[in-house]
Amino acid sequence: LGANEPQADAELILMLCAFLADVGLERLSVELNSLGCRDCRPAFRQALTDFFASLDQTGLCEDCRRRVATNPLRVLDCKVPTCKELTANAPVLAEHVCEECREHFTTVKSLLDAAQVAYTLNPRLVRGLDYYQRTAFEITSGEIGAQTAVAGGGRYDGLVQALGGPDVPGVGFACGMERLVMLLTHCPVSGPDFYLAVLEPRAVDQALLLAQGLRQRGLSGEVSYSAGSMKSQLRRANKSGAKLALIIGSEEFDKGEVLLKDMEGAGEQRAVSRERLLSMIAVSGVEGLLVAALPERSEE
Ligand SMILES: [Zn+2]
Ligand SMILES: [Zn+2]
Repeated sequence: LGANEPQADAELILMLCAFLADVGLERLSVELNSLGCRDCRPAFRQALTDFFASLDQTGLCEDCRRRVATNPLRVLDCKVPTCKELTANAPVLAEHVCEECREHFTTVKSLLDAAQVAYTLNPRLVRGLDYYQRTAFEITSGEIGAQTAVAGGGRYDGLVQALGGPDVPGVGFACGMERLVMLLTHCPVSGPDFYLAVLEPRAVDQALLLAQGLRQRGLSGEVSYSAGSMKSQLRRANKSGAKLALIIGSEEFDKGEVLLKDMEGAGEQRAVSRERLLSMIAVSGVEGLLVAALPERSEE
């Protein structure tokens, strides 16, 4: 809220794309349009109304025949094929926006270009409510065949005022959680960074603190406090999908060490001190740690 600048629009879109890519969605695409502002939209609405007046409206679907009078913009995003066909030559919003809106939109586009985020312009991407202004966007994913919308948003400069508040600009989005979850079930899930197994009962408290230290350094992982055989613990580590197994047996406990086992490479292992483990993680992350600590891995 409060930001008028096109940088805020671009930042939001970039952040959302990064988030969706981070959680594992692929083949994301961004559709973009400018809806104009309260100064320039009435003229477009008029041009659209004139266009519909010149049209044989009996070809439109029932909803659209109603929308022509109540909300002509919405006719543009009707999914009914005959409606799409009839409105193919309808006036294009982006060509009717005022100079300020044009500049605003140009900046948003050039920022996305600079950040190398691909987008397509969709002149039919509209919003039914008047408080939506300027930037409108939709992000779709091709994860399950046809492109499915995952999130949509834009600028709603008139919203706060419409709700009875002061005239503050704003930009935001909505993300369909159910849809996101549905798409994610199609994505391969990566396991945690580490699986910490405690084979020595005296080491449980230290294991907890070590896991805490690793998490503070940005790692994800789980700890198994119930002592079992090395073999059964490794089986569990493997099942968890962790990149790295960390094992504290009685020998490691006495020396203040942790046995580190690469779960992804050749399964190589080596003992390192707990302090060294934490400082290496802080410097180079899990991958760097594996390369630095395990000689065979670094020769790959
Ligand atoms: Zn405008
Ligand atoms: Zn229709």
